[in-house]
Amino acid sequence: MRPVPFLNLKAQYQSIKAEILPVVNKVLESCSFVLGSEVAEFEKEFAAYQETDHGIAVNTGTSALHLALLAAGVGPGDEVITTPFTFVATVAAIVYTGAKPVFVDIDPKSLTIDVTRIEAAITPATKAILPVHIHGQAADMDPIVDIARRHKLVVIEDACQAHGAEYKGRRVGGIGNFGCFSFYPGKNLGAYGEGGMVTTNEKKYADTIRMLRDWGAENKYRHTMKGYNYRMEGMQGAILRVKLRHLEAWTLARRAHARRYDELLVNSGIATPVESSFNRHVYHIYAIRVPRREAFQQALTESGVQSGIHYPIPVHLQPAYADLGYSAGDFPQAEAAAHEVLSLPMFAEMSVAQQDVVVEAVRKISHEMLVDASHKAPAKVEAKQDVPMIGAVAAA
Ligand SMILES: *Cc1c(COP(=O)(O)O)cnc(C)c1O
Repeated sequence: MRPVPFLNLKAQYQSIKAEILPVVNKVLESCSFVLGSEVAEFEKEFAAYQETDHGIAVNTGTSALHLALLAAGVGPGDEVITTPFTFVATVAAIVYTGAKPVFVDIDPKSLTIDVTRIEAAITPATKAILPVHIHGQAADMDPIVDIARRHKLVVIEDACQAHGAEYKGRRVGGIGNFGCFSFYPGKNLGAYGEGGMVTTNEKKYADTIRMLRDWGAENKYRHTMKGYNYRMEGMQGAILRVKLRHLEAWTLARRAHARRYDELLVNSGIATPVESSFNRHVYHIYAIRVPRREAFQQALTESGVQSGIHYPIPVHLQPAYADLGYSAGDFPQAEAAAHEVLSLPMFAEMSVAQQDVVVEAVRKISHEMLVDASHKAPAKVEAKQDVPMIGAVAAA
């Protein structure tokens, strides 16, 4: 049996190749390689999909975050509150502006920012809150928007993993002041190269971001802002328009796979992802939490199942950001998650047979490790049985 891949972009391409090739050819014939009508149409269609008034296409998700922060007026001397349990780009974008990232721990269930800890992190320098819809699940936005309103802060949603995700029936990206999306190939909506988008309901922000992404030009060669070359390529716009038409079906397939994983992994001794009742999780990542994660992953690989880790080191412990002054123990929930998460294969085209291979391997490895752990330290495992299984086993 061939290994079950973590992701299969080739299978997806084969399924839409007949729709992709003509639009690529159209862009080549038109020579509209940067921005252009395909990108403009994609902006409208994606903004509509996310239920926002404006969409501004850029070259990466990181650029989307950077420009949203700049448009919000974030700069040197300011502080931006975010979570350390994210991809490094969230924090890099804050640092690009000259502002200081201030971390708040995560909620251990949803893995998104712990809203009960945000207010304690606010200082007179705080300018924005940047929640991350990690793994495809929306952060608890109502309390965040409420805190922001009371403290006059801007809310920027890192929705780079959350195309189509919903919070209390509303699509992410327009709940805060800005939504930032990535179209990196492996994301739920992926370009054939790099891409990103800022969504907003506020015209003044949209206008500013449109200028900033294209050299701060008010019109040709008149530059009223210090801008960037963050433009989306015409080819990516054309390809993403085609793929956007499939996104809802792909999302429903991911959600069906997640439900099936949930059901088949019941009583397996490992923790499956927790979907908040008010959310539509889009399962960019389906992360279980396991004891002895590295050994677990190794055993999975040997069973022919590819997996990933998103992410093994929380940003406050990344060597590159040591200058922020944080240390181990500062954010116990983010550190525990980083230590235990393991991402199982998740892509729309995954077959039932492939998923069965994954489930069987996970159950077998989990069982062996539990037996092993109880053999070594029966008292500890017993004593902690009412806390999530993982904590007990990891402690053993
Ligand atoms: C992918 C990602 C980004 C960055 O997007 P790029 O398009 O790779 O620049 C930012 N934040 C999160 C949470 C991401 O997953």
